Amino acid sequence: MGAGYMRVLLVEDDERIVDFVQRGLKAEGFAVEVARSGLEAVALGTEGNFQAIILDLGLPDLNGMQVCERLRGTGVATPILMLTARDTVQDKVTGLRSGADDYLTKPFAFEELLARIEVLMRRGGGEISPETKEFRIADLVLNVETHKVMRGETIIDLTPKEFALLECFMRMPGRVLSRTRILEQVWGYSADPLTNVVDVYIRQLRRKIDDDFDLKLLKTVRGFGYKLDAS
Ligand code: CA
Repeated sequence: MGAGYMRVLLVEDDERIVDFVQRGLKAEGFAVEVARSGLEAVALGTEGNFQAIILDLGLPDLNGMQVCERLRGTGVATPILMLTARDTVQDKVTGLRSGADDYLTKPFAFEELLARIEVLMRRGGGEISPETKEFRIADLVLNVETHKVMRGETIIDLTPKEFALLECFMRMPGRVLSRTRILEQVWGYSADPLTNVVDVYIRQLRRKIDDDFDLKLLKTVRGFGYKLDAS
């Protein structure tokens, strides 16, 4: 996305989620700062300079709603996405009343978090570049709006997961992606790291995008993972 200047504040005390979200956002070109308590979040958030705040509801000191109220109370207008393990209408209403802009229930897939953040940033007038709709490597083209994939003049039919997998590679051409990274990005952090689902899907994807063509694009980098490039 070429968006290294976008700064996100992540407020979360669960290290597993911090790790998963932080790595995902960094891979998408965001600069991420982490606050692990409510007070730390208020202090950092008030300094401003963030284009979005991801705020967990359950924190060790203040809760997410109190953090939200304090930030809004001091005039901080940064878009806030609230995370919670609970999913009741009352929680959602209270969260939005406290000043949050959107609301996401755990567990969530990274792609959904990313989509919500991008919408919030656009709505909040944050400095997000217009999102690329079409990605191209050699004669392989993927369009994220029409969900159409072409190799030259040939239409390639992909399942939603195969599409997500290919999109993941096309957003980072030439970069080697590990199995763990692919699992997190395409299947979400709750996926079992010992599963061979990535290898299975890579094989399927390869069959569809590479088998009938001379130039092979999806490559195995032994010991590291996979990459998509035309070299
Ligand atoms: Ca928490």
